[in-house]
Amino acid sequence: MDGLKDLGIEVITSDRLVAEDKERGVVTLKSGKEVKCDFLVNCAGQKPNSGLIAELSPNSIAASGRILAKPTMQIDDDSLPNIYVCGDVAETTAANPNSRTARGQASVAADNVILAMDGRKPTNKYKPQWMEAFIKLTLGLDKSVTHMEDFSGTELLFPAKETDLALMSAGTWVHMGATPFEDDTEILKRFTSEV
Ligand SMILES: Cc1cc2nc3c(=O)[nH]c(=O)nc-3n(C[C@H](O)[C@H](O)[C@H](O)COP(=O)(O)OP(=O)(O)OC[C@H]3O[C@@H](n4cnc5c(N)ncnc54)[C@H](O)[C@@H]3O)c2cc1C
Repeated sequence: MDGLKDLGIEVITSDRLVAEDKERGVVTLKSGKEVKCDFLVNCAGQKPNSGLIAELSPNSIAASGRILAKPTMQIDDDSLPNIYVCGDVAETTAANPNSRTARGQASVAADNVILAMDGRKPTNKYKPQWMEAFIKLTLGLDKSVTHMEDFSGTELLFPAKETDLALMSAGTWVHMGATPFEDDTEILKRFTSEV
């Protein structure tokens, strides 16, 4: 929170946006508070797109709208053993679904699909790992905070200084097998020479 305040960001908690008045340039919150606003990015919540499975197997849809999954990442419907689900749309025991969770689950699903194609039983199981839940939030270009939580709910926060102006994007490209900053554009050249 202090890191965000240092960036001049006002953080309002326990409230949510209910209306936008573009002409007056204000948004109204549930509490009745009005906030001046010249550009609104409304990112309040995700909705799982599980309609396809809801038609096929209504009982596989959790109250959250996500799709109930077995540890093998098959949907939780014994009559449809060849349908797998992973990532954000899957209802699993993962504490904080994110890209690491999605990748781990996808890997289990892929291995099980290969076994099934070979006429064998899908035996690989997804087990949440506590490391999956850790997340690093950059606060502007030179600060970050890393959040970790174990299965007991114990939380740790590590504030840090950042020196990579490209916000670790080079490592991400390398991880995906690509050469970072390969595009030969003036903007990128200027940017990488600053890094
Ligand atoms: C703002 C934000 C920041 C985040 N930051 C991080 C982070 O720093 N680190 C991290 O690990 N995770 C982060 N996450 C979470 C991470 O993005 C998700 O957990 C991850 O992308 C889940 O992967 P997925 O493949 O399950 O879903 P998605 O990445 O959402 O992919 C699902 C895809 O399916 C497509 N789709 C949906 N319905 C259909 C359909 N009927 N037919 C065909 N295609 C369809 C969608 O268009 C989408 O492309 C962040 C999420 C958000 C919203």
